[in-house]
Amino acid sequence: MYASVTLTAPAKINLSLRITGRRPDGFHLLEGLTGFTAFGDNLTLSPAGEGVFVLNVTGRFAEDCPADDGNLIAKAFNALQARFPARKIGGVDVRLTKNLPVASGIGGGSSDAAAFLLGYNRLYDNPFPFETLTAIARDLGADIPMCLYRKPCRIGGIGDEIYPVKAVGPFYGLLINPLIPLSTPAVFKAFKESGAGFSSFSANDAYKEIKEGKNDLTPHAIRLVPKIREILEFLQSFNPVKADMSGSGATCFALYASRAAAEKSCAAARKEFPDFFIRDTLVFV
Ligand code: ATP
Repeated sequence: MYASVTLTAPAKINLSLRITGRRPDGFHLLEGLTGFTAFGDNLTLSPAGEGVFVLNVTGRFAEDCPADDGNLIAKAFNALQARFPARKIGGVDVRLTKNLPVASGIGGGSSDAAAFLLGYNRLYDNPFPFETLTAIARDLGADIPMCLYRKPCRIGGIGDEIYPVKAVGPFYGLLINPLIPLSTPAVFKAFKESGAGFSSFSANDAYKEIKEGKNDLTPHAIRLVPKIREILEFLQSFNPVKADMSGSGATCFALYASRAAAEKSCAAARKEFPDFFIRDTLVFV
């Protein structure tokens, strides 16, 4: 057992996101490529008495983040505990520094849950095999298994099928979020009601996919939050390898080939959008 374990929960970036169909139960079928940032939330885990779970949330976005049983970290602990109904597992005190905007298309909650599962296992010298962690992750949410891998992945199914791919990055990246609420169901509803067709783009090559692949949700999110268009036009003006929205938004990202270009666009963004969330970070893809 360790005295404490500290780890980052990176943001997940959808480098491309295609909607390829809809299941009879209403869930959309997705395809695309995801990567992870160096920047993220921070978690520090320390041991506590048997069965005890304590969660403390601080940081810029703490107020937007549930600190009770609704937090995905608490759900992950309860799922671990449920594996041992007859006795209590080692307790844990979790300090979460919420640096990532909440409900913003970059999977912060999913990443926190995955980082917690990895960190808990390290704290107690790996009591759970990786397969158990992935099974728990799958039950908790479609995006959580890929956050356990923390590697660039192709996604399929409803986002729950993941296939790790060879990295082509890292890139120098920039994240911008206008901090205007945008709900995931509202964006999918806008997509559905627009009558837009399903995508059939396909690329085997990750670099080609980054260059040419798009996020099918972007135009629909723009209709709900027009600021997203302004942000994307701004990012495009610095000649990125790619700029788009991640997930169902509203976080937008750009990938630049050079650190100088990323720093230049970051400095300009802070002037142009003083009230937005803006962060330069490496993006591993
Ligand atoms: P996705 O990309 O999977 O749609 P997201 O980035 O849009 O995710 P999250 O930040 O993961 O959204 O938050 C989604 C919801 O999960 C929020 O409404 C929030 O109340 C809840 N939640 C539970 N645990 C957390 C957590 N640790 N951090 C952030 N949100 C959490």
